[in-house]
Amino acid sequence: MARKKKEKKKKTGRSWKITLLLFFLMILISGAILLTLDGRHVQFRLVGGQEITVPFGVDYVDPGRSAVTVGRILGPGSLVLPVETSGYVNTRVKGTYELEYSARFLFDTYTAKRIVHVEDITPPVITLQHQEGYEPSWFTGGYQEEGYLAWDDCDGNLTDYVQVEVLEDRIEYRVSDSAGNETVAERELTAVKQPELTLLGDTYMSVDASLTFEDPGFTARDGKGRDISPLVTVEGEVIPYRPGAYELVYSLTNGIETLSVTRTVEVKAVEIPDAVLPGEKTIYLTFDDGPGPYTKQLLDLLAIYGVKATFFVTAEHPEYEDLIGRAYREGHTIGVHTTSHDFYKIYASEEAYMEDFYAMEEIIHSQTGEYTRLFRFAGGSSNTVSQFNPGIMTRLIALTGDLGYQYYDWNVDSDDAGGTKTSTGVVTNVTAGCAERHVSLVLMHDTKDYSVQAVEQIIIWGQQNGYTFRALNLSSPSSHHVIKN
Ligand code: ZN
Repeated sequence: MARKKKEKKKKTGRSWKITLLLFFLMILISGAILLTLDGRHVQFRLVGGQEITVPFGVDYVDPGRSAVTVGRILGPGSLVLPVETSGYVNTRVKGTYELEYSARFLFDTYTAKRIVHVEDITPPVITLQHQEGYEPSWFTGGYQEEGYLAWDDCDGNLTDYVQVEVLEDRIEYRVSDSAGNETVAERELTAVKQPELTLLGDTYMSVDASLTFEDPGFTARDGKGRDISPLVTVEGEVIPYRPGAYELVYSLTNGIETLSVTRTVEVKAVEIPDAVLPGEKTIYLTFDDGPGPYTKQLLDLLAIYGVKATFFVTAEHPEYEDLIGRAYREGHTIGVHTTSHDFYKIYASEEAYMEDFYAMEEIIHSQTGEYTRLFRFAGGSSNTVSQFNPGIMTRLIALTGDLGYQYYDWNVDSDDAGGTKTSTGVVTNVTAGCAERHVSLVLMHDTKDYSVQAVEQIIIWGQQNGYTFRALNLSSPSSHHVIKN
């Protein structure tokens, strides 16, 4: 019984071993079937592709390649295989080369090929040279070439083949190598660009004749936008009190080329209203050569009687200058006589006359806040002291008229600057003169004490005899003398 049992046990252990063996056999067979069906093989990956072009002269570096196993069913395996390369690329010689990559897997050797073209694909290099300290500008007469070099890895020195084209704001340097690779280099020329000269204000100006002309100016900028206005020269002059057309030419030059713009300034004569003769009996008391030591007394007196008069002023007594302002504020008329009252100086030329005249205008302006348009010639328009300069009075009358000034002579002379030296004499001369006419322009001098003292009696006489005392204005009669020069 026990023996039987033992045999049975032996039998069972053997069948287990066979079963296991069969089992492993089946796994091996199915593995082999699977691998066969999967078609497992080696695949190459070439970075950059199967055909590449590399630059001449640069050592060849393979862009990269790898070999891995892949299968139809199981996909890419993680097995990365070592790759061997055969073949050689000589980048010093242009041409086409072939590289072969190989990898072994199981019992096979797999290969892949890459075609490598060595070509000149690098353009030449242009180097622009710069001379230390050289600062080109429009004023240096433009740009002077500082030099350049062109080098190509394949063709060598190409400097002689560079084509230079000078454009408005730059220079273009252009060169191609034998393979047709082109390089363009640029040099900026803004610094040598033509400057910009621009007028402020209008290029045509029409102004009334006056004391001064103010040029509205200009702006000037170089090619880099920097202010170069101090380099601009202005030619021409405007005489602001002489009617006519003037040209001002603003220029910049570099010695070769001149850049200029022109402004036309037309000075127009100022119109004077026609003198109107009033119907009433009028006395225009006019006082020359002041203000002076007796002017205050005169103004006080005129204020008491409410009489308005006219003062043709000078700068001979500057300490009384403020009385010009007072007289103006009290309703009297201020006119220019002369600054210096120096006949030989003022009648030497029109320029000399106007210079003296305007100096007085400025004093009047500073005292009254206004310029006047009335004046009396020193010595009157009929003076003969100016005959050392023939025709000067005729020219000055035309000139001052163009400027809008009206001159006033007189038709009653108190003779206080002549032989009459007393108040009584002045009163007699003035009242006799006024009695003869409807409108009297009376010449007196507030620099004479006896004249100032005569004024009260003249006013009383005038008021008793139906005269009105008035200050001159541009519409008043001006009583012009016959010109003697
Ligand atoms: Zn005078």
